[in-house]
Amino acid sequence: MNTMKRFKAQVHCPICRHNVGADVELLRKKVRVVPGQWCTRCAATLDVAGVVDVPEAA
Ligand SMILES: [Zn+2]
Repeated sequence: MNTMKRFKAQVHCPICRHNVGADVELLRKKVRVVPGQWCTRCAATLDVAGVVDVPEAA
């Protein structure tokens, strides 16, 4: 069984300081941005972005 859930959420890009949509994953109650994605506004990596809006799916 795969215990890792992935879904869409809003994340806060620390570079351009905008919220953008990205894939996030849920790992034992902790939500983090799926590595390897880029901000749609400034093309910075989202690896360090903070998740700001998580759907109730968890
Ligand atoms: Zn950005």
